[in-house]
Amino acid sequence: MLFATTIFFALLACGSFALPAHSSTPHLHAHSRYEVDSNWDQGAVNQYPIHASCNHTETTQLRKALAELEALAEHAAAHVLRWGNSSEIYRKYFGDAPSAPVIGNFERVVNGDKARTLFRCDDPDGNCQIPTYGGHWRGENGTDETVICPRSYATRRPLSQVCALGYNVAEWPTNTYFASDLLHRVYHMPAISEWYVDHYTEDYQEVIEMAQHNNSYSVHDSDTLQYFALEAYAHDIVVPGTGCPGPASSASSGTSSVAPAMSSSASASSTSAAPMSSTASSAMSSMTSAPATPVQQYASSTLSIPPGCHTHANGELHCE
Ligand SMILES: [Zn+2]
Repeated sequence: MLFATTIFFALLACGSFALPAHSSTPHLHAHSRYEVDSNWDQGAVNQYPIHASCNHTETTQLRKALAELEALAEHAAAHVLRWGNSSEIYRKYFGDAPSAPVIGNFERVVNGDKARTLFRCDDPDGNCQIPTYGGHWRGENGTDETVICPRSYATRRPLSQVCALGYNVAEWPTNTYFASDLLHRVYHMPAISEWYVDHYTEDYQEVIEMAQHNNSYSVHDSDTLQYFALEAYAHDIVVPGTGCPGPASSASSGTSSVAPAMSSSASASSTSAAPMSSTASSAMSSMTSAPATPVQQYASSTLSIPPGCHTHANGELHCE
């Protein structure tokens, strides 16, 4: 008895002893001061809920995609836990920003409580009628809910196809894969993002530039987190040591993301080598408003962009 008690306090003192809920040593269990707290997480929701509006095949596909979402986010966190803010991939996307917020933003996707999340397959807001919609966060209509439209099941790829079929991180949209598409979608749900993760960039070039010049935003930028997760997964898991990053960014040369396209366009339309003409500069100002084309496309149809929705540079529309 005395011997057992001594062991018990010795284990407590070492600080690394976690008493199992159903201990195989009844004597220790009976004296555990932690026993009253053993149900501290009662009611926890550890799996993303899928709404009854999803049929069997949609549920099966969503369940697999959500498992891949967690695998993608889990590896992203693991990469950062291993290397901190020193790995080449980390520095590409987050510069020298401290890594704790990045780890937390991935960890919450995997292990955060999922009670206030829901994936549904009906179309309560009618947004799935917009041809480019793969899904949308319901916003004010349902803050904790995301709709996955039929287009997602037909177009989103599995992670087994990362680096295949021509894909590279720099040049392909992050929603190429169901898992990374869902990463974007869960970051719109406050249960996962706590309104901390948001959109601060529009495209890959802006992501790379932000890492170099304004990385306090990079650590909670939705697109940055998606690109980083895909590149870490491609580099560490899919094609070890190589990945498929795509062409090196021109951001390191100090040029802006839009400057190359602008200058080539301006020189092509200019009749001389003179400094940028007023025509070219007005073209630039219209081109910097990237969503203009998609917006006009939808404004001319019978469907309009719902309040709170926006267009990404790749033409993808979604709701905040
Ligand atoms: Zn978004």
